[in-house]
This record gives sequence, C-alpha cells and structure tokens, in this order.
Amino acid sequence: MTPTDTVRCGVFRPGEPGYAEECFSFNPNHPLEPAVVVAAETADDVAQAVRFARARSMPVAVNATSHHVVHPAREAVLVTTSRLGEVTVDVERRTARVGAGVRWQQVLDEAGKAGLAPIAGSAPAVGVVGYTLGGGLSPVLGRSLGYAADHVRRIELVTADGEQRVATPEDEPDLFWALRGGLGNFGVVTAMEFDLFPHARFHGGGLYFPGADAAAVLHAWREWAPTLPEDATTSVMLQRLPPLPALPEPLRGAFVVHLRFAFLGTPEEGERLLAPMRAAAPVVLDLVGDKPFPAIGEIHLDPTDPIPHHSGAVSLAEFGPDVVGKLLELAGPGVDCPLLGLEVRALGGALDREPSVPNAVPSRGVPFLVFGLAVGGPESRDELAGHLAHVSAELRPWALPRRLPTFLLGDDVAEDRVRAAYGAQYERLAAVKKRYDPENVFRFTHNIPPAA
Ligand SMILES: Cc1cc2nc3c(=O)[nH]c(=O)nc-3n(C[C@H](O)[C@H](O)[C@H](O)COP(=O)(O)OP(=O)(O)OC[C@H]3O[C@@H](n4cnc5c(N)ncnc54)[C@H](O)[C@@H]3O)c2cc1C
Repeated sequence: MTPTDTVRCGVFRPGEPGYAEECFSFNPNHPLEPAVVVAAETADDVAQAVRFARARSMPVAVNATSHHVVHPAREAVLVTTSRLGEVTVDVERRTARVGAGVRWQQVLDEAGKAGLAPIAGSAPAVGVVGYTLGGGLSPVLGRSLGYAADHVRRIELVTADGEQRVATPEDEPDLFWALRGGLGNFGVVTAMEFDLFPHARFHGGGLYFPGADAAAVLHAWREWAPTLPEDATTSVMLQRLPPLPALPEPLRGAFVVHLRFAFLGTPEEGERLLAPMRAAAPVVLDLVGDKPFPAIGEIHLDPTDPIPHHSGAVSLAEFGPDVVGKLLELAGPGVDCPLLGLEVRALGGALDREPSVPNAVPSRGVPFLVFGLAVGGPESRDELAGHLAHVSAELRPWALPRRLPTFLLGDDVAEDRVRAAYGAQYERLAAVKKRYDPENVFRFTHNIPPAA
C-alpha cells in the first residue's frame, strides 16, 4: 500500500516525475531526500499522510518554503504544504486565517488592502506558519507588539496520532503554548489564525555606508540603537557583496555597512530619529523613505534566490565597545572574512514582555541577535561553517544561551544546544511532546525529544 490508496493529492517517490520539485530546497546544502512525498491539498490529506507514516513506523517531515531545512528527511514521509495557500482577512475582527503554505507577501498584500499589517519578518517569501511557530521576529512591529507567536488566536493541526485538532487558549492549552515557539515538533499545522494591526505604512529602509567606515558606523549604532522608541526598529549588517549586475553600482562587489531602520510614526519624526546615523559617515546609497507596509521586504533586501549557504546565529547580552571591537576584528575593514554578511539586530521593547497568553518563545530578554551568512556549497562546509563557529566562539563572552527558534541554525540544532536555547521552558516542552508525540514522529526541525 502507498499513500495513493488513501489521499487524493499527489504522491511522489524518489525518481518519479515531480519528486525533485516537491523536494526543492532554498539551501541546496540541505537537501530533503524523503522516502515519499505527499503534496497535501487539504487537511484530510495531511491526516492521511500522518496515519500512513504511523502505520509503517515512519517519521513525518514538513516542507513549506524550505527556508529552514536543518535535517534531511531521509526515510520520512514529507508533507509539502504549498498547495494549502488560502488567505482570508477579516477586516472587522482584524484577523487573518492562512493555510499552511502561505508566504508573508500574500498576507501583506491582502491585509494591506484594508490598511492592516501582520507581524511579518524581513523576507516576504518566508512561510507564515514556520516563521510564527518559531517565534517570528519582525523588523517593523516586533519592538512595539512582540513576536508573531504572541498574537496567534487559533492553530489547526494534525498530531502524531493522525487526529485533526484545534489549539486555542481554551482548547488544548498546553499544545497551544508549545506550538508557539516549539516550531515543527508538535504536529503538522494545516491553518492558523492571528491578529492584524492598523498600520498602512512605515518610514524606513536602508542606508549603505562604505565598509571602510565600519568602526564609525558600528560605534554610532551601538550608542544610538538603545535610544530609539519602541515604534522604531533597527539592525546593521557588514556585507561583502558579490559583483552581481543586478546590484546597483555602489554595492556591486563592494564591502558596505547596511543600516536598516523602520519607524511607525511620521516621516519627519523618523528623519529626526535617523539624523545621528546619517551623520555617522558618508552614505553611498540611501533607500530610506515613506513606504506602504507591504513593502516591508525593502528594509533588509534579503536574498530571494535559492543559493547554497551556511549560516549561524548568536544571542548577545550586550552590544558595547568591546563587542564592536570584536566584530571589527572578525569582519571589519582589511580583514580577510569569508562571510557575505554579519548582522546585528536590536530587539527589546515588547519582545521582552510576556504575551497575554504565554507561549514557548524562549528569547524574551535577549537584547541583541547576531546572524552570520556565508555562501558556498558542501565543498566549502569545513571552511565556512568552521568560520561561523569561530565567530560564535569569539562572541561567547557576551553570548546568552537562550535563542530565537527561527534562528536556530547549523550546529545549534544539536540536542544539548536546543535544551540550552529553551532554558527553563525545555522540560515543559518535552512533557508536552511526550503527551502528543511520544514516538518522536516530528523530529526534522530542531528536535525536542519526548520526556523520558
Ligand atoms: C532570507 C531569510 C530571512 C529571514 N528573516 C527572518 C526574520 O526577519 N525574522 C524571523 O523570525 N525569522 C526570519 N527568518 C527565519 C525563518 O522565519 C525561518 O527559517 C522559518 O522557520 C521559515 O519557515 P518556512 O516555513 O518558510 O520554512 P520551511 O523550511 O518550509 O520550514 C521551516 C520549519 O518550520 C516547520 N514547519 C513549516 N511549516 C509547518 C507546518 N505547517 N506545520 C508544522 N511545522 C511546520 C518545518 O518543520 C521546519 O522545521 C528568515 C529566514 C530567511 C531564509
């Protein structure tokens, strides 16, 4: 028997037409390689796929957009969710209901028609469900409203027993707590409902400075970022950009510092807030302006094409002169640094406050997040992943163990590091896992095994 006996949607095995498309990975260094793919079109398809896997003692993996593949799905049934693509915006209630395959740009555009905004991340091509289950850190709304996971109202999912369930603050409250922060450990989400907020625009974008001025810009940023109100958000990234014709001239093949800024107030007030950074060094490219909310992707300008890469992240307890000195030593001017980018995001504000319905997001109180990105295939793994590990080790004196799950990358998905990332919440997560997934069917995300 194959899943084709029970589901009406596409089922693909290795070598069959369609298998490679379903197993596409945004990061070719992390292929999926499952035993069988179920291209789900309905929640029933998902439930049948999980039952099929359970009957054969096979694990289950999920792929939405493949932006965060951390383990190959070998020997697993892979449920792909891209066809669960429905978005419904309820303007009166200010909510959106999305299917599991929806990407942020779809919600941004649909909600934007009514002047509403979701707590979307920097890359609109990222999946809504994966991002939100991992916490979800927005470069515009995070500091004023908290994590995306803090504003979820209802989650529809299939658990490891093949049952379709609904988790809300009232129904399955432990599961509702664990799902919001526990990423893919507790089931396959088929749909999710969350709040939208009345923001039609923001003032922001990016300022690019010459890499040669990195010291001046980073020192100015470390003094300036903590002075911003909660409705302003910033990050900064040292970038060694490739000589791509698609890049504008001042960025092509250049070493630059990319300052990102977003503010929910007036453009005049936004410019007043930004003035100290404009004065930090000569600006080589100015992309700051008043923008419609759905243009949120213009703040970070994250890569949109799949590319083999290695990445890593570190939570920092502070961003003082010593840390700036260390970053310059690791990636500043004159340093032979193989990373394409080294980013620092300033968190704080509502990201530090418990939401009205508590959840498992473990990064409250983490003031800064560092993210490193290196481009290269498996042949460069030792060099590039090794360099990222070196960066983490060098930042250890200022590092915090607690981490945002959407930024658990590379070696940080090892069990001991996942335990440290969740801190005091880990034991409760493992207990919820034991109740809902005692055989660890869902283990291809950063895994939280069931409590012993
Ligand atoms: C360019 C880029 C920019 C980013 N910017 C941000 C940012 O600003 N803020 C932030 O917080 N994060 C950010 N991220 C991280 C991103 O949120 C995570 O990688 C997220 O997990 C991606 O989810 P996905 O569904 O798109 O990816 P996928 O690789 O398809 O899924 C990722 C994980 O989510 C689980 N998952 C997906 N769908 C389901 C489902 N229906 N049910 C159960 N589990 C599911 C999968 O098991 C998998 O473990 C960024 C990532 C990239 C590549």
